[in-house]
Amino acid sequence: MLVVNEDRCVGCGLCVSFCPTEALKAWGLCHVDPDRCNECLVCIDYCPADALSMGEEARR
Ligand code: SF4
Ligand code: SF4
Repeated sequence: MLVVNEDRCVGCGLCVSFCPTEALKAWGLCHVDPDRCNECLVCIDYCPADALSMGEEARR
């Protein structure tokens, strides 16, 4: 699943506006709703802080 690196996230909210399934919320830091995320990877491309990545468990 999508993982937020909390040390990198600056809470800019950009990923929230690009997520097609409204899986992301940013209050202070970004949070992912795993039930909504379809792992499209769009947010990873837009994050200016390189704070988003796909965790290993996504492939299990
Ligand atoms: S991977 Fe896609 S669906 Fe999941 S949080 Fe990012 S933009 Fe939203
Ligand atoms: S785009 Fe990146 S830095 Fe901005 S809120 Fe999302 S995860 Fe955090």
